[in-house]
Amino acid sequence: MYQRIVIKVGTNVLTRADGRVDITNISSLVDQIAHLKQRGVELVLVSSGAVGAGKELLPNRTDDGAVAQRQVYSAIGQVRLMELYRQLFAGHGLLCAQVLATKGDFRDDLHYDNMLNCFRALLMDQIVPVVNENDVVAVTELMFTDNDELAGLVARMVGAEALVILSSVEGLYDGPPDAAESRLITRVDPDDPTADRYVQARKTSGGRGGMATKLRIATETARAGIPVMIGNGRRPGILHRLLESEWPGTTVR
Ligand code: GLU
Repeated sequence: MYQRIVIKVGTNVLTRADGRVDITNISSLVDQIAHLKQRGVELVLVSSGAVGAGKELLPNRTDDGAVAQRQVYSAIGQVRLMELYRQLFAGHGLLCAQVLATKGDFRDDLHYDNMLNCFRALLMDQIVPVVNENDVVAVTELMFTDNDELAGLVARMVGAEALVILSSVEGLYDGPPDAAESRLITRVDPDDPTADRYVQARKTSGGRGGMATKLRIATETARAGIPVMIGNGRRPGILHRLLESEWPGTTVR
């Protein structure tokens, strides 16, 4: 079993089809994380879902796509999300912490060192850091492509032994994921220059990322020596299954 991992959870795993926060699934993920903690695994959670949670809190507001609108959603949604995480982790006797970061924080040496020191201290104290992009500050060109990129950077920063990316699909397929003839690609070589042939044009709604960025981040991270497992965050016991047997999902290593 890995000793230090980063787990990234996408908006589509944290919200239901009708856009509401999926408390049941978040609770199941927290149970799985708590189980890993009990086994002595150090972990950092990178969680999207702030904008989605914010939309639930302001149901009568039409999303006009304006920057300020997104800032409002994320600012109120982040509180909602952290409130939920705090309660669920507390049910396991665990503390969690909020870490918000921007792309600039990974470019600025002082910010980088400060963040790394904070992660070390939190992990030392058995606290679960819950990381998200600081969506209030990060707009347009200051933004990460998506939280997959943020998760890849965090994995390298903390020297993780594995990065798990949970989304609403099983992984990479050799055709449209919902087509009966499509096969799940279980292993991708990060040095295979043709791996992006598995990226399907259509992306799921909700989050900002898609399989194209997932694969790009996964190959970059794997080339840096950190294996990446992509799996469906709605499958029961997915974390354990991916980490123990790398199944069912796509492993990039
Ligand atoms: N930071 C955004 C949120 O919490 C998500 C970005 C993404 O979809 O990757 O809602």
